[in-house]
Amino acid sequence: MSRPTSPTSTTALDVLVIGAGMGGLSAALAFQRQGHRVTVIERVEAIRPVGAAISLWPNGVKVMHRLGLGETIEHLSGNMTRMRYLTHTGEPLTDFSLAPLFDEVGQRACPIARAALQQTLFDAVGAEHIQLGRRCLDYAQDDEGVTAHFEDGGQQRADLLVIADGTHSRLRSKLVGHPVERQYVGYVNWNVRVSADEALAPLHNWDQYVGDAKRVSLMPMGTGGNTAGTQEYYCFFDVPLPAGTPNDPQHYRDELREHFAGWAAPVQALIERFDPERMARVEIHDIPPLDSLTAPRVALLGDAAHGMAPDLGQGGCQAMEDAWVLARAVQDALEVDDGAAPAAAIATALEHYDAARVDRVGDIVSRARKRAATIHGRDPVQTHAWYDELAHEDGSEILAGLRKTIVGGPLG
Ligand code: FAD
Repeated sequence: MSRPTSPTSTTALDVLVIGAGMGGLSAALAFQRQGHRVTVIERVEAIRPVGAAISLWPNGVKVMHRLGLGETIEHLSGNMTRMRYLTHTGEPLTDFSLAPLFDEVGQRACPIARAALQQTLFDAVGAEHIQLGRRCLDYAQDDEGVTAHFEDGGQQRADLLVIADGTHSRLRSKLVGHPVERQYVGYVNWNVRVSADEALAPLHNWDQYVGDAKRVSLMPMGTGGNTAGTQEYYCFFDVPLPAGTPNDPQHYRDELREHFAGWAAPVQALIERFDPERMARVEIHDIPPLDSLTAPRVALLGDAAHGMAPDLGQGGCQAMEDAWVLARAVQDALEVDDGAAPAAAIATALEHYDAARVDRVGDIVSRARKRAATIHGRDPVQTHAWYDELAHEDGSEILAGLRKTIVGGPLG
C-alpha cells in the first residue's frame, strides 16, 4: 500500500483553495503533504453534502491512498464484488464478478457515504486551515502572485489560486475568458441511502434494473460511519424528464411509484422503504469540455473544470486525479529549479497540469454524456440495442470500459 507523500524541503508556497468539496479538500491535502501553506475558503457555514453516496473507482481510491486516507476510506466504504443488470421485471441480463478488474488494477472500488468522505477529507486538512462562511467573488493576478477578493470585503494573497467551486462555478468564466453555460443532460436522478437487506439485493452486488430508458440502482456502500454500524445501500432512480419539473420531497414516493409501476418486487419494496427527507433529487447537467484549465497563477479543478454526467461515476474521481496531478506538477517543478522564483515553477507546473488534464477530463465528460444518452433513451433505438447487448454480455466489455477509465489515470 502506498504511503502518504512526506513534506519535502523545497520552497513552501502559499496556496489558496476556493471550495471545500471533495476536489478542493483533496487539493488542499495534496499541497499540505508537499509542505505548502494552504488555506481553503468555503462559502457555506457548515458543510452538508447534497446526495447520498458516491462510488469511488480505483483511480480515485489510489489518490486517496497516496494522500494517506485510503485505509480510512476502505474501512468506511462498501464491499462491492459483483455487478448485475436486470430487466425492469427482474430478469437477469448479465451478472459477473468485479474481482478480475480490481485484481488487475490493484485496487477495489469504494462506494462511500458522501458525508463520511467529506468529513474524512475535512479532518485530514484540519479545521484551522478552512475558513467557512466566506465567499470568493473575484481574483486578480500580477507578476508576484494572485489576490482573491471576498464578499465580506476581505482579500488574501497567494502564490497559487486553486478554483474548486463546483459545477455552478462563478470564477470559471473569468478564467476561461467566456461564459460557460451548464447543459441539461435530459434526466432526473433521485438518490438515497437505505439499510442493506437481501430482500432488496445481494449484499455485495451492484444491481441495476433498466427499462423504458429508466434505471434503478442499488450499490453496497458500507456503514458510512453511521452510529449503529448498519450496512447500507446507495440507491438511485433515473427518469428522463424535461428540465424544471417540480421538486417536492412530499411527492417523491408517489412520483416514483408512478414512474416505476410494474417494475420488479425489489424496486417496489425500495420505493416503499426510503425516507424522502434523506433523498436528493438532481436534474443532471454537465459543461462542455474546456480547452484550458489554467491562467498564469490559477488552476481550475473538479466540477468547476469538468462538471459531467454521473453515468461513468467519475466526477469525484477526476477531481481527486486533478488534485494529485496539480500538486505533483508544482512539486516536480520546484524540485527541478529549487531556489528559483516560484513564478517560473508555477508556470511550468500549470503548463504540465493543462497538458495532463485537458484531454483526459474532456474525454471523460464526452463519454459520460454519450453513456447518459444511451441509458436514458435520447435515441430509443440505441437504448434498445444496448439492452440487447447487455443480454449477450459476459462482463468482458463492461470491465474493459471500466479498466480503460481507471488505468488512464495518473496512478495507472
Ligand atoms: P463540489 O462538491 O460542488 O464543491 C464545491 C464547493 O465550493 C462547495 O462546497 C461550495 O459551497 C463551494 N463554493 C462554491 N462557490 C464558492 C465561492 N464563490 N466561494 C467559496 N466557496 C464556494 N462522482 C464520482 O466520482 N462517483 C460517483 O459515483 C458519482 N456519482 C454522482 C451522482 C450524482 C447524482 C451526481 C450529481 C454527481 C456524482 N458524482 C460522482 C460527481 C461528484 O459528486 C462531483 O464530481 C464532486 O462532488 C465534485 O466535487 P467538487 O469539489 O469539484 O465540487
